[in-house]
Amino acid sequence: MRPSPIAPTVDFDADGVQHGFLKLPYSRDDAAWGSVMIPVTVVKNGAGPTALLTGANHGDEYEGPIALFDLAQSLRAEEVSGRVIIIPAMNQPAFAAGTRTSPIDKGNMNRSFPGRPDGTVTEKIADYFQRVLLPIADVVLDFHSGGKTLDFLPFCAAHILPDKRQEAEAFRLVRAFGAPYSVKMLEIDSVGMYDTAAEEMGKVFVTTELGGGGTASARTAEIARRGCRNLLIAAGILKGEPEARPTEWLDMPDGTCFTFAEDAGLIRFCADLGDDVALGQTIALIYPTGRTGVPPIALKARRGGLFSARHFPGLVKPGDCVAVIADRIAD
Ligand code: ZN
Repeated sequence: MRPSPIAPTVDFDADGVQHGFLKLPYSRDDAAWGSVMIPVTVVKNGAGPTALLTGANHGDEYEGPIALFDLAQSLRAEEVSGRVIIIPAMNQPAFAAGTRTSPIDKGNMNRSFPGRPDGTVTEKIADYFQRVLLPIADVVLDFHSGGKTLDFLPFCAAHILPDKRQEAEAFRLVRAFGAPYSVKMLEIDSVGMYDTAAEEMGKVFVTTELGGGGTASARTAEIARRGCRNLLIAAGILKGEPEARPTEWLDMPDGTCFTFAEDAGLIRFCADLGDDVALGQTIALIYPTGRTGVPPIALKARRGGLFSARHFPGLVKPGDCVAVIADRIAD
């Protein structure tokens, strides 16, 4: 396969702190020989494991970029044993536009793996992670949040995996992250995901959903900052003491966790995130907006449990994910 067109301006093997870019040539109307410039920081100090930290895999999710721009400007080499590679805006064009997918090619980074060196801009970035960055990583932390259309109770998560040693190490780091909630995820549609690419290479992969609505709160930004440091300490890469926090474990075992809209309209939630809901309870009403005098459509909970994620904007359309209900499980 041809080499990646992406050229890093940093040396991943050099000790010390380096701030630079992954430069991807992209010729366009406003920049004939221009490049997409993806900021990257490498902090390396001698031998040891490598952590690869990414935010803005989806461009409208903000806790990860906040934590990682902060870490990139504050982390010192003497605090590290091994290497930390920090990429706060993985899908940089999407992040710059404030959109989930890339405005250049509509590429959803988390459905673009393994990517292609001769593909679209999004596929070229995915290919660089697939063939250059993931192979040199031991631990991968990829931050997500709900984006503009979803809002989550803040959780850190890893996947149920066939390799139980790899799975156990991932859940050890999820616990260390110390988000208010921790989730054991069984991915229903894992094709093309960065998660899957990392896990198939045997990497220890941890992800998050830390809030949403196209912004970050003071509380969720702090969960991201603290969790990232806690994870690096637990991985043996960052010196210091973890800021331990209790976490409650959740499971999303099957499709009944998810409630989707089948109608368009104005949504009125009848429960809020963090509420316990019962099987059959009305969790939202959708009012048709084309005329008055029409009763709303009730959306019922398809299982009992913790109301963990919801649609964010006030209007819904058929197919939108309206609510996610999770099981509380023993640690
Ligand atoms: Zn995301």
